[in-house]
Parts: sequence; C-alpha cells; structure tokens
Amino acid sequence: MIIKPKFRGFICTTAHPVGCAKQVQNQIDYVQSRPKIDGPKKVLVIGSSTGYGLASRIVAAFGCGADTIGVFFEKPSVKNRTATAGWYNTAAFEKEARKAGLVAESINGDAFSKEIKEHTIKKIKNRLGGKVDMVVYSLAAPRRVHPETGETFHSVLKPIGKPFTNKAVDFHSGHVSEMTIEPATEKEIYDTIQVMGGEDWQMWMDALKEADVLAEGVTTIAYSYIGPELTFPIYREGTVGKAKDHLEKTAHELDAKLKDLGGRAFVSVNKALVTQSSAAIPIVPLYISILYKVMKEKGLHEDCIMQMYRLFSERLYRSGEVPVDEKGRIRIDDLEMQPEVQQAVMEQWKLIDSTTLEEISDIEGYRHDFFQLFGFETEGVDYDQEVDPAVNIPSID
Ligand code: NAD
Repeated sequence: MIIKPKFRGFICTTAHPVGCAKQVQNQIDYVQSRPKIDGPKKVLVIGSSTGYGLASRIVAAFGCGADTIGVFFEKPSVKNRTATAGWYNTAAFEKEARKAGLVAESINGDAFSKEIKEHTIKKIKNRLGGKVDMVVYSLAAPRRVHPETGETFHSVLKPIGKPFTNKAVDFHSGHVSEMTIEPATEKEIYDTIQVMGGEDWQMWMDALKEADVLAEGVTTIAYSYIGPELTFPIYREGTVGKAKDHLEKTAHELDAKLKDLGGRAFVSVNKALVTQSSAAIPIVPLYISILYKVMKEKGLHEDCIMQMYRLFSERLYRSGEVPVDEKGRIRIDDLEMQPEVQQAVMEQWKLIDSTTLEEISDIEGYRHDFFQLFGFETEGVDYDQEVDPAVNIPSID
C-alpha cells in the first residue's frame, strides 16, 4: 500500500516502515561516526521503541557493543492498518543489531505488569547470559494498571493549585492562541505519580535483583525534565513535575539499595525534544519551536541520539566521578538551560503570535521532526512507492 500521514490531534495514526527504518539507520550512523564508548555490555531498555529509550538502546548497541533487550508497548500492522512507529523502529533496530553480531531481543507488552517483568527476567537468563549491567527506564505512558491492586491510573498534564493561562500553538495550522488549563484535583495528582513516578522503576529493580540478574556494578537510569520557568506551572510544578520529583527520589533509594552490588542509580535531566510524548504537553510544542530556532542559530541543537551519546560518553561511562547537580541529577539539559539560550527564548516568547510564528520560531523544524517520528519526510524515501505494512520483529514470541 501507499502510506501517507494521517492525523488525529497530536497523534499520527499511520507510520511508514521504510521511513522509520531510515530514521533508525541515521541514528546508528551517527553513533558509528563517533568514538566507541567503554560502556555496558548487557543492557535492558524499558521503553525502547521510540524517543530517548530507542536512542539509549542504539548508543548501547552501536556505541558500546552491547547485547540488548528492549521492552515496549507497540502495535503490529493489521490488515490495511500500519504498525505503530515504535514497531517499525524496533524491527529495523533488531535487523541491524543482529547483522552487527549483537543479541537484540524485544518484548512487546505492558511493562507495568508482573508478567512482562517475569518474561524479561527469563529472556535475560536465556538470551543475555543471565545478567544485565545496565537498566534504562524510559517509559512515558498515559495509564498504568497497578500490578498488585488491579487499579487503573491515568496521568494528566495539569497545573496544581490554580489555573494556568499561556500561549500554545496548533502546529498543524500555525495558529497561536491563549489557552487556560484548570488545576488538577488531589486524585489526579496522586494518579499521575502512580503512572509516571518511580514506583514501577523500583518494582523492576526489585524484581531483577531478587531474580539475581543484575551484574556487579550495574547502572540504572531514568529520565526527567525541568525546563524553563515559563513551563513550570504546567510541567515541573504541575502533576507531571510531582511524578518526576518522585522518580528522582526513587533514584536515591535505588542507589542505596544497589550499593551491595557496587551498583548505582541515576536520573538524567534531558533536553526538550519532539517525541510522541512531548507533543501532548500543552505550551511545550511552542516552547520547543522557539528553543530549536535559538539553539540551531547558536550551533547548540541536539536531537535524541546526540543527547544519549553525550549521556553515555561524557557522563555515565567517562573515567572518574559522574558529574551531577546539587540534587544528584545528571544534567544533559545544560545547553538548553544556558542563560543566553533561555534569555533569547524568553524574548521571542513575548513576541510570538500567529503572525510572527514562522519568522521567530522554528515551527517548520518542529513539524518536520514530528513527521519524522512516524517515518515521514525522511530523505531518500520514495513515499509514492507501494510498501508492505506487515513487518516482522523476529524475536517477538
Ligand atoms: P516516547 O513516547 O518517545 O517513548 C515512550 C516509550 O515508552 C515507548 O517505547 C513506548 O512503547 C513505551 N511505553 C509506553 N507505555 C508502555 C507500557 N505500558 N509498557 C511498555 N512500554 C511502554 O517518550 P520520550 O519522550 O522518549 O520519554 C521517555 C522519558 O524521557 C520519559 O520519562 C520522559 O519524561 C523523559 N523526557 C522526555 C523529554 C522530551 O522532551 N521528550 C525531555 C526530558 C525527559
């Protein structure tokens, strides 16, 4: 079939297998163009099919030569419906990793469940030689069914305490308008922490430790975001920010628990980037559009793969202590948060509206990156060509 992008709100309901494969290849090529990293050799990535998790898996495999297991929640193609982008990304990753002589195993299912944790432990034993020396936790999920109580929690993106009004963009139409978001209820705050906080990460690490599949000196890492004051009410001081506070607290607890193995746990604060998850956060796409313009002009722009390569090579697996901030967090949002960058973004923010959008923001770059998440607008791909949407991931059982 001929596959074109189809939108429902900020979600694209189609994905292009050839485009996704090319996107993965571009990330592999980037990592292979950089010096090798003396890093982990057996890596579990939870949330490995898109965004920061996929980039972490690619750096682990092609930068460090690691065998990997990836866990994700994606849909294969059914009849005339395409698979999701993360499905195609994983198929392409596995193919290339195996070609390079690496073990690459994938598990499609609900990472919050007990069954998927047990299945993963079996795969570590059977396919990775019994132990992992790195666990990346990169889930971004809208809901979680609690494995013990069966209760379903939904995460929300809302401010806390009072309504928040600011500018937002509809990046399809280029229309900038004011939007007001009502504050979350206590239940919504609690539920968001249940989904995006650290409890599940903790459960994973407890299960892996109990099953004796963590190697001496194991490293585990999860990802967080802080961002500018402008987005504080909706992000860092909002419901998701509370969940991130919990995730960061969990890192300290895990770090203490892993000491007997000589292990360590970190949270890395990453840069704002276009991913399926960040597209859903009000205000953030407009902020990212201006940020991209400023960072590209200053020669500081990075994408997921560049961020993850820098995280592994210059933070986690360099010689000596891992540099962290006063709260013990790794900061690879350092370039985004440079005062000159933030000042320039804030100046443009005041001026931005529907008439100035194209000129003072990189909305075009935002749109382009958004299309590319689903394998569209990718150089070297002929989108008028018939393609088979049914693509197999060999290791899925
Ligand atoms: P993403 O949407 O690209 O990736 C999310 C991953 O989680 C996918 O692999 C998806 O399949 C998987 N997933 C979701 N629900 C699942 C479930 N129930 N079971 C198994 N897998 C599931 O998101 P992302 O932007 O790469 O976010 C990853 C992490 O990075 C999040 O913690 C996010 O807060 C953080 N982060 C993102 C940004 C940003 O700007 N995108 C910045 C800083 C930090």
